[in-house]
Amino acid sequence: MRHPIIMGNWKMNGSLTANAALLDALLPVVEGLGSIEIVICPPFPYLSQAGSRLRRNGIALGAQTLSEYGAGAYTGEVSAAMLKDLGCRYVLVGHSERRSLNGERDSDIAQQLAAAKAEGLVPVLCVGESLEERQGGETRAVVGRQIEAVIDALGIDSMLGSVVAYEPVWAIGTGETASPEQAQEVHAYIRGLVARRSAVIAERLPLLYGGSVKADNAAALFAQPDIDGGLVGGASLDAAAFCRICRAA
Ligand code: 13P
Repeated sequence: MRHPIIMGNWKMNGSLTANAALLDALLPVVEGLGSIEIVICPPFPYLSQAGSRLRRNGIALGAQTLSEYGAGAYTGEVSAAMLKDLGCRYVLVGHSERRSLNGERDSDIAQQLAAAKAEGLVPVLCVGESLEERQGGETRAVVGRQIEAVIDALGIDSMLGSVVAYEPVWAIGTGETASPEQAQEVHAYIRGLVARRSAVIAERLPLLYGGSVKADNAAALFAQPDIDGGLVGGASLDAAAFCRICRAA
């Protein structure tokens, strides 16, 4: 019932030349993988470049963040309507780098998610605990708080048509992946938490794992019952590695 989704988050990497080479290497391979949804999230300035190529290949375009506001005097911000205009289907909200480097709070993130849904975008709500929080036994409390902040603000229906990505902060860009069992344990907790409000929505909610997903560990992660795909950072910049990850889904 839940189709696998593999998302490549390019973060603040790329150039017109490098992106063209990456897309040239990637697209002919992944366009044949019909049963999974593949999403590329380039930086804002390259959405058009990637979007014009992806539309021809049936792969979806996503953005890395968005403004909670609709339009107006918000210098430097990008609205949901603009992302829609450029052909985005997905948008990340609350990535841990946005939370830690840009001071985004749970309440801001809920409003971003609402703005995305209002334009018909699929928001990908990113949650995850720091190393300190995991060592302190607070993983469930932190992840639960991050998800419930959105549900409390917007209602359980906000999870319908959304995606949740569990990205433990200690596994992002560190080469240290959560083990399949560690990830599954948190994913099952998240699905259970949503199921307490709506079993139907919980069953339909795609839950992605992110944090040092590589070609070599992807299959074991994706084999877990509550892991419906991956949110891939570094390895999504390497065409061969990203293709192998997509094939593992
Ligand atoms: P890495 O795959 O580089 O660890 O990044 C994960 C991530 O933050 C994706 O959003």
